[in-house]
Amino acid sequence: MSKGKINVSVENIFPLIKKFLYSDHEIFLRELISNATDATLKLKHLSNIGEIKGETGEINIEVKIEKSKKTIHIIDSGIGMTSEEVEKYINEVAFSGAEEFLEKYKDSASETGIIGHFGLGFYSAFMVAKKVEIISKSHKKSPACHWICDGSPNYTLEKHNKKNRGTEIILHIDKDSKEFLEESKISELLNKYNKFMPVPIKFGTKEETLPLPKGAKKDEKPKTKTVDNIINNSNPAWTLQPKELDEKKYNEFYRELYPSQFEEPLFNIHLNVDYPFNLTGILYFPRLNNDLNLQKDKIQLYQNQVFVTDNVEGIVPEFLTLLRGVIDSPDIPLNVSRSYLQADGAVKKISNYITRKVADKLLSLFKKDRKAYEEKWNDIKVVIEYGMLSEEKFFEKSEKFALYPTVDKEFLTFDELQNKIKDNQTDKDNKLIVLYSSNVDEQDSYIKAAKEKGYTILLLDSPIVPHLIQKLETSKTDVSFVRVDGDSIENLIKKDENTVSKLSEKEKDKLKPFIEGLVPKEKYTVKLEDMDSKQLPFILTQPEFMRRMKEMQQTGGGGGMYGNFPEMYTLSVNTNHELISQILKTKTEKKRNHLILQALDLARLSQNLLKGDELTKFIQRSVDLIK
Ligand code: ADP
Repeated sequence: MSKGKINVSVENIFPLIKKFLYSDHEIFLRELISNATDATLKLKHLSNIGEIKGETGEINIEVKIEKSKKTIHIIDSGIGMTSEEVEKYINEVAFSGAEEFLEKYKDSASETGIIGHFGLGFYSAFMVAKKVEIISKSHKKSPACHWICDGSPNYTLEKHNKKNRGTEIILHIDKDSKEFLEESKISELLNKYNKFMPVPIKFGTKEETLPLPKGAKKDEKPKTKTVDNIINNSNPAWTLQPKELDEKKYNEFYRELYPSQFEEPLFNIHLNVDYPFNLTGILYFPRLNNDLNLQKDKIQLYQNQVFVTDNVEGIVPEFLTLLRGVIDSPDIPLNVSRSYLQADGAVKKISNYITRKVADKLLSLFKKDRKAYEEKWNDIKVVIEYGMLSEEKFFEKSEKFALYPTVDKEFLTFDELQNKIKDNQTDKDNKLIVLYSSNVDEQDSYIKAAKEKGYTILLLDSPIVPHLIQKLETSKTDVSFVRVDGDSIENLIKKDENTVSKLSEKEKDKLKPFIEGLVPKEKYTVKLEDMDSKQLPFILTQPEFMRRMKEMQQTGGGGGMYGNFPEMYTLSVNTNHELISQILKTKTEKKRNHLILQALDLARLSQNLLKGDELTKFIQRSVDLIK
């Protein structure tokens, strides 16, 4: 037996490890299983190249809890270590690794923003154990060895009679970490970090129901058999080639990733690149509707099938964090802060690659089956619109597959839209005017009026539309968006040359003060207009610019720099409407005011502006009128 003192400059590394990584104690299991996996894969490799003779067979890793002894065991049948190797890899390499890690960790100061705590490796065992043992038998001809370390830099190393190849790590769990002796806790950790690791991991046993034998009696109960409980799928879909997978398999894997998701994803994107960086993965487009806050099941980041985090901020472009799925890349630096990550060239390339793949997939779906793509549009538009806003490259590519649906459920690309409206939807400067509605129910009367004139009206109802419109207006110079109930629709609706005014100028001068006297000046600008007599008597519109600024403020943006917007409306009075003539003719002031207020309230009602007390009063007045 040999004894020794591990050569470290930080005299007491263990309390430090515990202190620094307090919040992440649970990663010890991931680290030890990763080592066991490496040892197993190395063995398989040596066997493949013929350096180890004989069949290695199916090799599992086992995790075992011995509650009475307060120990956790991680057992592998990998390459193992000779006592010289333990000296070298554990006492020297691993320790220096741990020390180096702590140095780095201290430098990066704040604990927040560090991804995972990779790199600590073997010594993370001391976060939960007061004593650690290694019993290892190398694949080389050499006796097994037994290393014990009690959490101080002192260790012992002696021979052991272990016969079979591989390594067993025994953790004597500290009393303040005894939660890790619970089966449910270990199960949870295995499920979180090791669900897709490449070597089968056994944890306990389970009962398996056997099929009934042929000719079994009707009430015969099927027999059960005790089998190893393998907790992982060692060949997850993303490690396979796309040609080995079909829709069903992709969806099955989705369910494996997110067992609580019942809805099928809309489609998926298989990522697979090995140069200039290595990355595999599958991204799924879930049904998103307009819900930007649904963020429970996130994209998971793996490194060589080991779970790292589900916070992929900085690695995946922000607009794609609404998607689900996995990415696996050994090339993402992990024990660095997020700000470093965002500046890192390789990570930037990864992010660009993912954006490009998503754009390519959308284009191919659009080209392959436009109808099916249109049907999905409402469920995917949030991601696409968000991407158009935030990534210039994506915006350019989206030209070909971004759709603009009309209120009549026709889906147009921007080019198609342009062609459709270029002849009758321009203003006096020949600028294209795109009409849109944000809510068909609320803006119904305006939509009907515009349709009557033969205009095409888009339905743009996602929450980021005001931002998107702004973007489209600045990048496409000759176009302007106008909401159907916006005041600048007047620029477009050319006055019918034949409409003659029913009222004389004198009558108009008399009418205007009647109305202005009844509405608050700071809120309403009254305008008399000779419209078609079939149009409503009073029409309320909002300045397009102001409404849009307000909406942008609500969905974050503008940074509150415009302050709080006042409510302002243009009240257009249709001088050709019969009711207006009637108002003018009415002699008694009370009756006249009644008519004006009633017509005004109707206009407000159509804009969804009549609420509370005013609504009650309106209803009362209406009842009075018809009784
Ligand atoms: P890393 O895994 O990052 O190299 P570790 O501290 O986890 O650092 O481990 C140090 C070294 O000890 C490993 O590189 C490996 O050579 C050896 N080792 C650790 N665990 C095992 C094991 N279960 N079987 C064989 N070798 C191991």
